[in-house]
Amino acid sequence: MGLIEQIRDAGVVGAGGAGFPTDRKLNCKAEVFIVNGIECEPLLRTDRHVMEQNADLIVKTVQEIGAFLEAKRMVIATKEHYEDAVDALQKAAAGTNVELHLSKSFYPAGDEQNLVYCVTGRTVPTGGIPLDVGCVVSNVSTVLNIAEAIKGQPVIEKMVTVGGSVANPVTVSCAIGTPLSKLLEAAGGAVGDCTYIVGGPLMGKMTDDLSQSVTKTTGGLLAIPKGHSLLTKKMQTDRDATLARAVCSQCSMCTQMCPRNAMGLNVQPHKAMRALAWNNHELLGDVNGVFSCCDCGVCTYYACNFGLKPSKAMQQCKASLQKQGVKPVKEVKYDVDGGIENKRIPTERLLHRLDIKRYDVDAPLAGFVEADVVRIPLRMHIGGPDEAVVSQGAHVTKGQLIAKPNGMGANIHASIEGSVSSVTDDYIEIRKG
Ligand code: SF4
Ligand code: SF4
Repeated sequence: MGLIEQIRDAGVVGAGGAGFPTDRKLNCKAEVFIVNGIECEPLLRTDRHVMEQNADLIVKTVQEIGAFLEAKRMVIATKEHYEDAVDALQKAAAGTNVELHLSKSFYPAGDEQNLVYCVTGRTVPTGGIPLDVGCVVSNVSTVLNIAEAIKGQPVIEKMVTVGGSVANPVTVSCAIGTPLSKLLEAAGGAVGDCTYIVGGPLMGKMTDDLSQSVTKTTGGLLAIPKGHSLLTKKMQTDRDATLARAVCSQCSMCTQMCPRNAMGLNVQPHKAMRALAWNNHELLGDVNGVFSCCDCGVCTYYACNFGLKPSKAMQQCKASLQKQGVKPVKEVKYDVDGGIENKRIPTERLLHRLDIKRYDVDAPLAGFVEADVVRIPLRMHIGGPDEAVVSQGAHVTKGQLIAKPNGMGANIHASIEGSVSSVTDDYIEIRKG
């Protein structure tokens, strides 16, 4: 069986992003293969642990993928201060054709398009993908999942950092479908009355529902005390448009600090704010730049001194344009900003600005979190939900195929052995034993 079929069978999707099916992404030829081990968001620790623990296997797999892509360069990118991971990778890559790219600690260093620019000097056009400039980018956990796929092992486990206001921040592994509450227990529980962020502090989603499951793309669970300013920023309110009208001074600091704008992609959140404020899309000007917003949150969480939410305005504008059928035009509007390096936001400064520096602590590996019941979502990837191929009452073994894509998607496998206790349109629940 070829590499693409092995990846497809194993149900590998992008582990660090929206869950794009990896067999589709890698089914091409590319000049440069970049492995993203940057861990874009602060407070998360999974990438560095994955690299420390599996450096040899990662380098070997990168060579296999690189050979398949016929890549001239294979580059593993990580942050220079992940010293243990860097040591392990340097030893593993010594004497091979795999390069390391060591980045300073800034946000969003792990943004795919930023990474392509930093490694190759090329800018991915608006409406385009890295392959448009000869690159394929995969998260380091995805590469590890590909290594397992080559051995015939499907994706059934995930490594997750549990941090924030918890008794003992940890990084644990667990079966896909494990409830978030189990992970919180492994960290000794929350300290104080908290709301939770699934993912990183900037791009993660808020929830109070810890019965939610770990998916193939979950990277973090952060407990944040209720009332913390970070949560206030994350809340969408129906006053956002009113505030934009009343408070936004059109100073354009959000646009000046936007990392995608600095790459010449004409991303202008201040114009999205005025369009939102006056409910007039014509005020957006050149709409194409809206499609290059990666929702990194720099404009909202760092740039705007008035506490406004230009990134939310951008999301709204993008959704509205998509609803109207507007498609992005592939272009790089301007040259890269000559001052791009000076616009990098040091992670340390971002942590202070978000008032979460106190949570920037080690989250050591703490083993495997067992679950007696897993609820495996049928949608852990871009595309529609999978179709279950097992029924309630069936006995399933660990790693058995339980759902198949219906169009775009990825195979889903049982993450524990047991009996299927429920099959719905949204998930398959399995009980141990
Ligand atoms: S959203 Fe904030 S940073 Fe952007 S233009 Fe308005 S006031 Fe300035
Ligand atoms: S979220 Fe804001 S800073 Fe980030 S790319 Fe979008 S507009 Fe730019």
